[in-house]
Amino acid sequence: MQWFLGLALALAGAAPAWAAEEAVPAAARALHERLLTLDSHLDTPAQFDDPRWDILQRHEPDLAKGENQVDYPRMVEGGLDGGWWVIYTEQTGRTPADNRLARDHGLKRLLQIHELVAAHPDKFELALTAADAPRIAAAGRRVVYISMENASPLTLDPSLLQFYYDQGLRMMSLVHFKHNEFSDSSTQQPPEWKGLSPAGKALVAEANRLGIVLDQSHGSDEEFDQLLALSRAPFVLSHSSSDALYEHGRNIDDARLRKLAEKGGVIQVNSVYLKAADKTPATIEDFFAHLLHVLKVAGPGHVGFGADWDGGGGVAGMEDVTDLPKITARLLQEGYTGQQIGDMWSGNILRVMAEAERVAREIAAAQAVAPAKK
Ligand SMILES: [Zn+2]
Repeated sequence: MQWFLGLALALAGAAPAWAAEEAVPAAARALHERLLTLDSHLDTPAQFDDPRWDILQRHEPDLAKGENQVDYPRMVEGGLDGGWWVIYTEQTGRTPADNRLARDHGLKRLLQIHELVAAHPDKFELALTAADAPRIAAAGRRVVYISMENASPLTLDPSLLQFYYDQGLRMMSLVHFKHNEFSDSSTQQPPEWKGLSPAGKALVAEANRLGIVLDQSHGSDEEFDQLLALSRAPFVLSHSSSDALYEHGRNIDDARLRKLAEKGGVIQVNSVYLKAADKTPATIEDFFAHLLHVLKVAGPGHVGFGADWDGGGGVAGMEDVTDLPKITARLLQEGYTGQQIGDMWSGNILRVMAEAERVAREIAAAQAVAPAKK
């Protein structure tokens, strides 16, 4: 169906579909507004250090001018109900002094996300369980799950993970662009641990025990394979795309994508690493190409969205979250049902979260029984 629409537009001499705001038909916009829409990787907390930046003000997606891609007015405009707000820590050195800086940075971001909710309780609410998101959105507030990208704040003292959980952390990736004490990164060679380190394996077990969803984006392929074997709960790739369309450490191959789906996991499609940087800048059509490919390989029950907003995401035609209804429109055009599109926007990843909660209850129940056997 899409080729026909493209042809019709070409014959009419119209601008490419991605350039036209009216590319979203009313029915698609109405569906988009009705659905619970969550993005699994909002790097917006990186803005919270800037005292002049106000989440209630509307900004432009002009990163060079210190602007950004997500704020409250544009979440409303783009029909984005919320998502996972990231505690991102850059991987610097690995000395004890570096590890203390990472620890302090992580705690600061955690508190800043809490401050967001505390400052605007009528507009944002902290979400702790899979069941919280629909309830919060129905009350007219934006959903704030907390996630961590790079577990380096935990290097000095991994038992801090319990503290983070108690403060609302519900998703975590172990590593970022460089190897750390927990895992190999997908973007550094040669491998250091051949996947997870012993500390990384212990952290995976602890995340399972607590009910924190593991996020494999940025981890090496060996990390992926070990998580597949070790994690008792399904996991997610919070912002990754397809190797088949653009082979890159940050993307995933089809064979692993199928294994992710078999385990019940979800890939949340990224808007970065869509094509080689030396070619023309990526457009929303490149994003759709990755999306449609992973849908074909993993199936609509295992795909969602994590466009890396405020973390390097955004493409021509989808520069900020106001463009999100275009995704819903395109999926309708491609023949996906409203139910399937709703699953992609939140149902799938919330299912993974609910499964992580179930596994945590199972582990707690087994531990409660164990002492009685002595
Ligand atoms: Zn990232």
